[in-house]
Amino acid sequence: MKIKDLYANDKTVFSFEVFPPKRDNPIETIFETLDGLKDLDPDFISVTYGAGASLADNYTCEIASAIKDKYGIESAAHLTCVNSTKKEVTEVLKRLNDSGIDNILALRGDINPDIPPKKEFEYSSDLISFIRESGYDFGISGACYPETHIESKSQIEDIINLKKKVDAGAETLISQLFFDNSLFYDFIEKARIAGINVPIEAGIMPVVNKKQIERMVSLCGASLPGKFTKMMARYENKPEAMRDAGIAYAVNQIVDLLSHGVDGVHLYTMNNPYIARRISESVKSLF
Ligand code: FAD
Repeated sequence: MKIKDLYANDKTVFSFEVFPPKRDNPIETIFETLDGLKDLDPDFISVTYGAGASLADNYTCEIASAIKDKYGIESAAHLTCVNSTKKEVTEVLKRLNDSGIDNILALRGDINPDIPPKKEFEYSSDLISFIRESGYDFGISGACYPETHIESKSQIEDIINLKKKVDAGAETLISQLFFDNSLFYDFIEKARIAGINVPIEAGIMPVVNKKQIERMVSLCGASLPGKFTKMMARYENKPEAMRDAGIAYAVNQIVDLLSHGVDGVHLYTMNNPYIARRISESVKSLF
C-alpha cells in the first residue's frame, strides 16, 4: 500500500523510523527492535539509508522487506542519491521492487566533505523525477524542514524548493525533528500558501540524553525552547529522569500537534522500543 493512501478518509497517520545495523553487525539486532515495535501497530515503519552508502553496504532493503512480509506492517525504504550514479539507482530500484517494497522516502543525502558527490543527481527532486520515469510504481515521499534546511539562505527559498520536490512527484512529506511546535505550525501555513497540499507528517524525536540532542542539533540546527533547555540542564546527570522527562516532552508535543489537526506524526524511535511503547501507549487513542 502506498503511504499516500494511508491518509484516506482523513486518517491521522502514526509512523515509526528505524535505522539498520552497520553492515558488519548481525542483521538480527534490528529484529529485536521490530519485535518490540510490532504490537504498537504503526501505520508504517520507514528504514533509513546509510549516508554515502550503496545498497550493498546497508540492510535497508532487507529490513523494509521484512517489515512487510514478516511483521505485516507497511514499510518505506529511505534512498539517498548524492553519492550514486543513475545506473546504481536503477539497480537499487529494481531490487526494492523485486523485494515487494511499495514506498521510497527519496532524499538527496548530506554532502560529506570527504566523499565528492557523483553529480548525476543534484537534488532530491532529481531523484524523485528519476523514480517517476523509471517505470516502477512506487509511492514517493520527501523530507521537509520546519526550521529551514541548513543550506538554504531563507525559509522562502527552501519552501520554493520544497514545492519543486512535490511537483516532481513527492506525494507526502516527513519533517525534520523539531522541539518547538509553533515553528512547525508557522511552516505548515507557509507551505500551504505556497501551494504545497500533500500530507505533511511531523517528525518527533524523544530526547534520551544530552549528548544525543547536541549531536542532532549540530546536524540539523533545530532550536531548543527555554522549557526544553531547562529540562536538559536539570536532568542531564540523572539518566532515568532525563529519559522520562524526554518521553513526557514528546508526548506533550504530540498531543498539541494532534489538537492542531496535524496530518500525521513520524516518531524517530532510535531503535528503542521501550521509549516508542511508552509514547505510543500515551497517545494512541488520540489518533
Ligand atoms: P533536497 O530536497 O535536495 O534539498 C537540499 C537543499 O537543496 C535544500 O537547501 C533545498 O532548499 C535545496 N534544493 C532542493 N531542491 C532544489 C532545487 N530544485 N533547486 C535549488 N535548490 C534546491 N539522510 C541520509 O543519509 N539517510 C537517511 O535515511 C535520511 N533520512 C531522512 C529522513 C527525514 C525525514 C529527513 C528530514 C532527513 C533525512 N536525511 C537522511 C537527511 C537528508 O539527507 C539531509 O537533510 C540532506 O541534507 C537533504 O536531503 P533532502 O532530500 O531534503 O535534499
